[in-house]
Order: sequence, then structure tokens, then C-alpha cells
Amino acid sequence: MSRKTWSSLDKPPLSEPVLEVLQEFGFKLMTPVQTAAIPLLLARKDVSAEAVTGSGKTLAFLVPLLEILQRRHKETPWGAKEIGALIISPTRELARQISEVLAQFLAHDELEHLNQQLIVGGNSIEEDIAALKQQTPCILVCTPGRLEDLFQRKGDDLNLAARVKSLEFLVLDEADRLLDLGFKTSVNNILGYLPRQRRTGLFSATQTTEVTDLIRAGLRNPVLVSVKEKASVNTPARLQNFYKIVQPEQKFLALLQFLRSPTSSSGKVMVFFPTCACVEYWAEMLPPLLPERSVLGIHGKMKNKRASVVERFRSEPQAVLLCTDVLARGLDVPEIDWVVQWDPPSNASSFVHRVGRTARQGNEGNALVFLLPTEDAYIQFLKLNQKVDLSELQEECVAPQETELKPLVEQLHRLQEADKGAYDKGMRAFVSHVRAYTKHECSAILRLKDLDLGKMATAYGLLQLPRMPELKNYQGDGFMAPSFEVDLTKLTYKNAQKEQARKQKLQTYEQTGSWPGRQKQHMKRTESWDQTKKAKLDAKSKKELRKAKKERKRKAEAGEGGSQRKRKQQYTQEELDELASDIRLFKRLKKKKITDEDFDKAMGIDVDDD
Ligand code: ADP
Ligand code: MG
Repeated sequence: MSRKTWSSLDKPPLSEPVLEVLQEFGFKLMTPVQTAAIPLLLARKDVSAEAVTGSGKTLAFLVPLLEILQRRHKETPWGAKEIGALIISPTRELARQISEVLAQFLAHDELEHLNQQLIVGGNSIEEDIAALKQQTPCILVCTPGRLEDLFQRKGDDLNLAARVKSLEFLVLDEADRLLDLGFKTSVNNILGYLPRQRRTGLFSATQTTEVTDLIRAGLRNPVLVSVKEKASVNTPARLQNFYKIVQPEQKFLALLQFLRSPTSSSGKVMVFFPTCACVEYWAEMLPPLLPERSVLGIHGKMKNKRASVVERFRSEPQAVLLCTDVLARGLDVPEIDWVVQWDPPSNASSFVHRVGRTARQGNEGNALVFLLPTEDAYIQFLKLNQKVDLSELQEECVAPQETELKPLVEQLHRLQEADKGAYDKGMRAFVSHVRAYTKHECSAILRLKDLDLGKMATAYGLLQLPRMPELKNYQGDGFMAPSFEVDLTKLTYKNAQKEQARKQKLQTYEQTGSWPGRQKQHMKRTESWDQTKKAKLDAKSKKELRKAKKERKRKAEAGEGGSQRKRKQQYTQEELDELASDIRLFKRLKKKKITDEDFDKAMGIDVDDD
């Protein structure tokens, strides 16, 4: 499709203020998805648009949204309690980002009456309500959970349902992701509050069958717009995609070399890890080993700091951002030079979304995935499954040597010796990584039993092998133990509060001869994760699980220090998450939305695991 200028839109033409702001952006031509979707939306059609990440979907809905709202304003000015447009986005970061772009338009004098409000989880709902009443926004940018809450809210005369009566435009951004993340019910509930006389724009990177279902439920005869940059290729065209095969024990060494190498050191790098615990650990280990760059970490369980981390990543030219899939989609950080995946992602479509963080809008970009020798079939798998071609990264960027490994692992050992906090994080990271490995969609290629867990623990620089069932029969000699004497029972925390708690426990031990909470803390695990998961679900009904979750939440809210300790004794953070996602799956199974087979597959129950 040939690209057109914004002013070439003529029936009807874009309004002056919108054109002026677009000019300030410096975007002369529309992108293909903008060229296709905007005229349709302006002509009062519902649109479901599919286009790769970075293809300019935000403006594809913001521009018609502003036009539609202005047009109505000219006929009947928007009332103080009227909401004209809703934009729903799956994550806070994305919502915030949309809201920032929108703010640039609303800064124009002639558009400022269309004020907006950002409504996302994390802030207090009371504040949201107060602001809604006071600012009377015409546009809401929200995440689905919080919006649903506000609709259901009774007794504080907000009555959001009444405010959306003359809604003109609904946008579901990253619709596929909304559904992936289990927001289907929320989205459907929200749709129930909205008038049917409205336009809807549904935007996603991939049209899944679930998106199609949603289209059926919520849209009137939508026009489907599908824009592929290159017909058969799923990733942005100017992206170079590399892989590097590394030995399991050298995985961290290889990453570090890469981050130190001139290949990557002149720009921003995003590094994806399989779990939140991995990000926590490496975000602590990496900075002292890479003092020349600023290293940031972000993951889904960080609630309040996320926005400021993203902001720092944006502003620092050579920053390295360690992250999980929370950030794999939609986030628009300009000029990321490299997207690195330390491990293959849990499913092939995440691969595309992760690498979609770079090479946005005509910029060049590079992506690198580290693979183990046992994982080389993944290259072919991606090619078949996602039509992504990977080429091997050149030697000069990364070539880990056996001789370099020992000193590096020793550095990791020393860092943990110096802080029990780091040691704890390392253990948790490793265990979570092993468990994440069993969740790979392509478990035929990525098999846990092919992993040399001892070597992997070496890459993590662990001081000892964790006690986990997967390691019970470990026969290999791949684990590199510390070369110096270290008494693990004497490690101390740098964090004063934690250290205080540890000392107290120690005291109790010295007085009574037994460790407080020890038994629970060292939950005896004799089964592998896969078996445990199934057993857990068999044993507990979903109701009980929910109750337990509520209780934990209550405890967590009751106070930081004490409750945290308590929580740790019962479940590890990973388990909590796992439970939450298990419950979600279980619900879907019960509602017959998925088959037993799907369920087992998703739970990894049929994983061939010894
Ligand atoms: P998507 O939502 O499709 O992943 P975004 O809307 O986040 O993509 O846009 C990606 C980048 O492209 C942003 O930095 C945006 O400012 C830029 N962009 C959007 N439209 C244009 C355009 N017409 N010309 C040039 N750059 C554009
Ligand atoms: Mg987007």
C-alpha cells in the first residue's frame, strides 16, 4: 500500500489543530495501518486492525478519535459529565504511553476542552473517583480491571454508566493481549455498560481466534484491516535477528560479554528474562560487573516503581533494561538498539513481540537470542512457526572462553557471600527459571531433561545447588562450587531490617534448639513442579485457593516486614503466581472454555519430565 500524507485525507479532511500537532511530530506520511484505518473510522465504520508492533497504531486511533469528538462538540458541546471516548489498554505502561501521546494533542488550545484522565490500577480508586468528578474528562485512558471496578461502583454517586451514555468511540488497544491476560470477562462486562451506537476500533499485533470472538460480541460489521509490512514476515522489516549458541554454564558470561562489547555498548539494550525472580537477581548482580552502563530492572510484580524505571530507561542513552514479558508488547521506548533474550520465550508469538521493541518506525534494530547447544532446533521452529529467520551472531561480539568463566563465577560467589539477600535472590531466580522452562510452549524442543541443571546453576553463580526435586538425582559434575570457604549459615543481610529478623531467629534457635518457622520455610519438596501443580489442584477447590489468596493479600496489606516474613514461610512468590494462574486456568476448564487436554498441556502435566 502506498503511503499518503495526512492532508491527503479529504472526506472529511482532518481538522487544523490535529494537523498542526501532527506537523509538530514531524510525521509527514501516514503509516500503512494509519492509511487504512483512519478513513474507515472517520466514515463511522467499526474497524479491527492487525499490524505489527511499531507500525503506528496509536495514532491510527487517536487521530480519528479526536476528529470524532470535535465533530460532536461542534454539534452539541460535550457536557461536564459526558465521556466521549474510552481507550482500553492491557497494561499501565501502555495506557500511560497512550495518554502521553494524547496529551500532546490536548496541549493545543483548540483541543484542550477534550480533557483526558488516565485510570489505571495502582492508584487509589477513591482518588480516581474524586478526580473524575472534579475534572470531568471527555476521554478516559484505562486498564480494564480498574475501569470495570469503577462501573460496578455503587453508592458514591459517580455513576459511570450514565456518563458513557453518549460515548462516541471505544478503542481496545492490544486486543489480543487483553484477552491473553485474562481480561475477557472484564472487557465483556465493560461492553455491557456501553451504548451500542458507537464506533469501536480494535487494534492488535496478531488476530487470534479470541479476538475474532470479541469482534462478534462487540462490533457491528467491522471492517478488518490487516497490514503486513512484508507479506510473509511477522517482524519489522529493518530488524536483524541473531542467535548465539552458548554452553549452559557460560550463559551469563556470554551476556556480560555482549553488554560490554562495542556491538551493543553505544545504545539502549533490553534484556528479557524468563521470570520476575531472574530480573530481581540479575538487576542486583549486573551493576557491579557492568559499572560503565546504567542497569535497570523492571517486572510485573513491581507496582509503583515501574513508571519511573521506564522514564529513566527513556532518558539514559546507554541504559540496559532487564525485564520480563510484562514489557514485551506495545511499550514505545525510542531507539532501542538491541533486544536480547537470555532464554527462548515461553511461546513463539512472544518472540515476535519482544523483538518488536526494536526497529520501530524505520529505525534499524537488532535482536539476539541465546540458545543452548541442546536448543538449536528452536531456530528451525521459529522459522516454521513464525516465519522468522535467525542468523548466527559473529564471533567478535561474543566468544566466551573457558578461562574467563572461573573468575566471573567467583565474583558472583563473592557478591552473594557479602549479602544473604543476593544469595536468596539467586536461589529463587534459579528455581523459577527451571520451572519456567517446563512451561515452554514447544516443550518437544525445549526439554527440561536436556538441561544440565548443575551447569545452569554455575551460570547463576550459586553458592550451592538448591534442594529441589529436579536436582535430587543430579549426577553431573557441572556445578562449580565456591573456591573459598563459605559458611552458608553465617551469611548476613545488607538490609538492616532483614538482618535484624535473621538475628532474632538465630537467637531463638540458640535458646530453643529449633528454627522458628523452619519447617514450613523448607517445604519438603519431593515431587517435581509438574506433579505438585496437579496435586495441588486436586486437593484444593478453587474456592479455597481464592480464600487463601485473599488472606495473603490481607496479611500483606497489614504491614510490610512481619507479613513478608510470614508469607515467605508459607509460599514462595513463584508459587503464589503459579497458583493464581492455575486458578485462572482451572476456572476456564470448569466453564468448559478449554478442554482437559488444553488444561493439561497448559499445566505442563504431560511434560515428559524425569
Ligand atoms: P504500535 O502501537 O503499532 O506498536 P506506535 O503507535 O507505538 O506503534 O508507534 C510506534 C512509533 O512510530 C512511535 O514512536 C510513533 O511516534 C511513531 N509513528 C507513528 N506514526 C508515525 C508516522 N506516520 N510517521 C512516522 N512515525 C510514526
Ligand atoms: Mg501500540
